[in-house]
Amino acid sequence: MVTLLDKLGRPLRDLRISVTDRCNFRCTYCMPKEVFGKDFPYLEKNHIMTFEEIDRIVGIFTRLGVTKVRLTGGEPLLRKNLPELVSNLSMREVELAMTTNGVLLPRYAPALSAAGLDRVTVSLDAIDEGTFASITDSGHTVAAVLAGIEAAESVGLGPIKINTVVKRNVNENEMLDLIARFSDRDIAVRFIEYMDVGSTNGWKMDDVVPAQEIRQIVGASKAIKPNNANDVAKMYRLENGGEVGIISSVTEPFCGNCSRARISADGRLFLCLFSNKGLDLLSPMRKGLSDEYLEEEISRFWRSRSDRYSEIRTDSHKDRNRIEMSYIGG
Ligand code: SAM
Ligand code: SF4
Ligand code: SF4
Repeated sequence: MVTLLDKLGRPLRDLRISVTDRCNFRCTYCMPKEVFGKDFPYLEKNHIMTFEEIDRIVGIFTRLGVTKVRLTGGEPLLRKNLPELVSNLSMREVELAMTTNGVLLPRYAPALSAAGLDRVTVSLDAIDEGTFASITDSGHTVAAVLAGIEAAESVGLGPIKINTVVKRNVNENEMLDLIARFSDRDIAVRFIEYMDVGSTNGWKMDDVVPAQEIRQIVGASKAIKPNNANDVAKMYRLENGGEVGIISSVTEPFCGNCSRARISADGRLFLCLFSNKGLDLLSPMRKGLSDEYLEEEISRFWRSRSDRYSEIRTDSHKDRNRIEMSYIGG
């Protein structure tokens, strides 16, 4: 396998592709309604990668060492005919996953599974309907997300993971209920520290519930050895025998293991969630440049990479023009 190393010796292994910058939720920490309203300048259709372009890019990245591809967004299930893309990508030698808010899974899970999707991660921040409604701000329900998880499970899109962003005084008291809800199933809940991605969510350090406190609240005392050195979630054994994951992006950063690249829906390659410099891949493709040219450009970009934003997070970064999570794909 090809191993492309960046300046800090990190290999390129994972690729996250945003298939749309639109979403049917308005999570306050990601796409606050006041900013992402009707007049927000979403990407225009002709600036969004086609399925053929995405497939071509994935082909190039697999030759550069990528073994895992994750479809994301925005809400990836809003992209029309997504199973067709999954079907194309399933011919590639990669593990194929998707991150979704889950409410459209009852409609699409069977077709996605038949098309070759391997597994899904579903985001769910609360079990209590009121808390969920105040976070997601869009009229959708916990019941609808749970139905989505059931639908994914019933067609074998597992092992399913649940992502929960924990925000101070918003949902830290939901953690035990979330664990209890999935404790009898092969579904791991992963708690994510609220991150300062983008510039629209008004992030402050006081809103972060540190991993150390999450471990105390959920009773995660015994760390489980990771299967894969590049896993971002640290897994813990609970007293009742279950498992829980914690993604401590802010207080215990893991930039040293960061093997991910991200591509926005308009085909720009970003090597860090906090970067604002993307490499445009779509224009050269549309100008007819060759795969060899793109491979060379991507390799050069990865080799020159030294980002480790979470390890050096400082106030001086606050005013930068940061890209949004819904654009770059979480
Ligand atoms: N819409 C899909 C979903 O919510 O699963 C996929 C895209 S979403 C941007 C991907 C993940 O990013 C979700 O699990 C979401 O909770 C997480 N996320 C978004 N903003 C975040 C933030 N500021 N800090 C931590 N995680 C965040
Ligand atoms: Fe949409 Fe996902 Fe962002 Fe929530 S976290 S607004 S579901 S993209
Ligand atoms: Fe990777 Fe950037 Fe996150 Fe560090 S801050 S883990 S380099 S994406």
